[in-house]
Amino acid sequence: MPPPSQGGAATLSEFGLIERYFVRTGGKAALGIGDDCALLTPRPGMQWAVSTDMLVEGRHFFREADPGMLGHKCLAVNLSDLAAMGAKPVAFTLALALPEADPEWLEEFSEGLFGMADAHGCELVGGDTTRGPLTVSITVFGEVAPGRALRRDAARAGDDIWVSGTLGDARLTLAALRAEFPLDFSSLAAIAHRMHTPAPQVALGLALSALPDTQESPRRTLAAIDVSDGVLGDLGHILARSRLGATVDVDALPVGPVLARQPAKLRREFALTGGDDYELCFCAPPEWREAVRAAAAGVGVGVTLVGTVEAEPGLRLRDREGAPYKPGSAAHDHFAAG
Ligand code: ADP
Ligand code: MG
Repeated sequence: MPPPSQGGAATLSEFGLIERYFVRTGGKAALGIGDDCALLTPRPGMQWAVSTDMLVEGRHFFREADPGMLGHKCLAVNLSDLAAMGAKPVAFTLALALPEADPEWLEEFSEGLFGMADAHGCELVGGDTTRGPLTVSITVFGEVAPGRALRRDAARAGDDIWVSGTLGDARLTLAALRAEFPLDFSSLAAIAHRMHTPAPQVALGLALSALPDTQESPRRTLAAIDVSDGVLGDLGHILARSRLGATVDVDALPVGPVLARQPAKLRREFALTGGDDYELCFCAPPEWREAVRAAAAGVGVGVTLVGTVEAEPGLRLRDREGAPYKPGSAAHDHFAAG
């Protein structure tokens, strides 16, 4: 592809740009940035978990998005996929389309990106850079022992359904920023990080993939997914792949204090269908309840039981009283009223 320096006002060449903002010393890859391919040596007996996620300006982030936060988030959403598989981050590649080579933007973007990369020991080993509408596509490589990956197709009837952390705050932030919903400044300040700088649940994914450690419980593969599009849809993916159904208590869905203070309809809708949470939704047998709680506590993450996997297909939602709950128009009704 033509480098960003051709046919425009940019002063950096493609190679100058890569060298200045993306090449670092001290990498562990057998061969990192600079050749036609990177070379990665898998640890003996391990499998690669590989995933790509692309973020496009206007679709996944605002044009005026803070570049440091964007760098953080682009890698975080990819690491969240490794977390959902119980894989340990190793390396990533970065495909970048830039409208222009803006040094200040690149400086901040790469800082945010490497902050997240270093927090998870994940090394940038290659990529591609071209001129175009701002688009960031990352491919992550993680390692997992054979048979240890968490999988969407591994749920079983009778499993508990768990959710990590809290849901809905990224959606609530978006609603407040779009002025769909009035939110006071200090509440917004308390939750905005959930939308701008999400924290992937990598440690929890690894802890779950290591279960059970005891000899009494036979091993089995657990089902998990990261909640990027709302737990309603994402749990639906587990159930579809596992050919099962479930009942979920919408009032058991974990929310933080700001969303907990909002009207019940909004709280339920955002917890169920709000995107960008990057929590894990996973299924495990009830006999493992204490082991699951201990594994989560061991990595400092809260986990909440929200429902049960069932043989009967379909996702049945109930409120606290056990009455059927219908998702959908509630949030919009509320916006219309507000
Ligand atoms: P090729 O044309 O052979 O694909 P490029 O000229 O695009 O190679 O890239 C040169 C080197 O720089 C390659 O090793 C590539 O992986 C790396 N690279 C290109 N863009 C990026 C980027 N945005 N981040 C990290 N590495 C990059
Ligand atoms: Mg190239």
